[in-house]
Amino acid sequence: MQTRFTPAQLSDPATAMSEAVIRKCVHCGFCTATCPTYVLLGDELDSPRGRIYLIKEMLENEQQPTAEVVKHIDRCLSCLSCMTTCPSGVNYMHLVDHARAYIEATYRRPWHERLIRAVLARTLPYPGRMRIALRLARFARWLEPAFAASAVTKPLAAMLRLAPAKVAAAKAPESAEARNTRKGRIVLLQGCAENVLRPEIREATVRLLTRCGYDVAFARGEGCCGALTWHLGRSEDGLHSARRNVDAWRREMAAGLDAIIITASGCGTTIKDYGHMLREDPAYAGDAATLSDMAKDITEFLAEIDLPEGGKAGAAKVGYLAPCSMQHGQKITRAPVDLLTRAGFTVSQPAESHLCCGSAGTYNILQSDIAGQLGDRKAANLARLQPDIVATGNIGCATQIASRMSAPVVHTVELLDWATGGPVPPALASRNSQ
Ligand code: SF4
Ligand code: SF4
Repeated sequence: MQTRFTPAQLSDPATAMSEAVIRKCVHCGFCTATCPTYVLLGDELDSPRGRIYLIKEMLENEQQPTAEVVKHIDRCLSCLSCMTTCPSGVNYMHLVDHARAYIEATYRRPWHERLIRAVLARTLPYPGRMRIALRLARFARWLEPAFAASAVTKPLAAMLRLAPAKVAAAKAPESAEARNTRKGRIVLLQGCAENVLRPEIREATVRLLTRCGYDVAFARGEGCCGALTWHLGRSEDGLHSARRNVDAWRREMAAGLDAIIITASGCGTTIKDYGHMLREDPAYAGDAATLSDMAKDITEFLAEIDLPEGGKAGAAKVGYLAPCSMQHGQKITRAPVDLLTRAGFTVSQPAESHLCCGSAGTYNILQSDIAGQLGDRKAANLARLQPDIVATGNIGCATQIASRMSAPVVHTVELLDWATGGPVPPALASRNSQ
């Protein structure tokens, strides 16, 4: 795509980066067929190509974006399906991240949007605050139909719908030592939402990794990866989270570190991008790039090491829901399926597995109508597989799909732990006892 940026505009590193991305786009439109919002809405401006054009115009003209432009950028899920499809290597992720930061800095949203976005940014990345919010949500559930009736309160209705019936008590993470011949030491990301919603994922990961011979450490001072605020366009908040985590992991490197393991693929995509996010900060750029290279999804790591013998959980039929941040963001497609198959499960993937389930961070709260349609579509495709269990690798996808499925939804690592000697995952155990 041709651009008309001035030399003065290109002296800004973020604009120069976006210009290089835009110029790579050759308008071929291949990406439109795999973009969930274009598939649903059929509007060119809700396609990757249309959004690239809108972003180009917005940045070139240094315009304050209109409500119409913001609407189409907001509707993007950041699922990155377009990046998997694009033959020209357009880095849409970096472009839309820049666009979101530009919108946040130049556009004044209606009061109710500002309020809900501020609440999300100040609640979700903090496990203590999130736990309190989820407990309060239990008492407000009856308000959901009333909230759903108004555009202003619709995000609140979506939050109430997504809130789980039970919230586990807070439990401090405990480092654990290898149980078999020691092979190395890893840091396990503590994360934010995952451990509040499903603490069993962390427990299964610790059991499995120590059984595989790894010491598991939790870094002091670490927190949310920053993805939630970064994708809301709150760049400074996102960068603050990234710097805090780089500081925490730097300290761990002194004790020997083989990898930073992540069990939520949405976090993994962002952490693997820390090198890019902090590229202009001389105090962090080098270590951020090194630590990004050390970040691995749990399935990516397990695929490279010897797993204990599987088969202890039987050959249940597993429908695998590939999170977008895993398949498009990190290009991890085979590892989860191969690991589950090797562990004795019969694994299949649904039709349209490249399409997002609609979770996408805070998308299922802020764009609940589109998210709901995508969630229903994903659940219907999964149900056609008639699975005994649904497995996925991202807490957002598990939460989005669980209420739409009759089969229990678990994390891939819970099944791998079970098949190699761990306990039955709680979501399955509670079904069996009913
Ligand atoms: S990130 Fe996903 S929703 Fe956004 S333009 Fe690309 S394919 Fe479409
Ligand atoms: S597939 Fe790539 S090059 Fe083609 S229109 Fe989409 S972003 Fe541009």
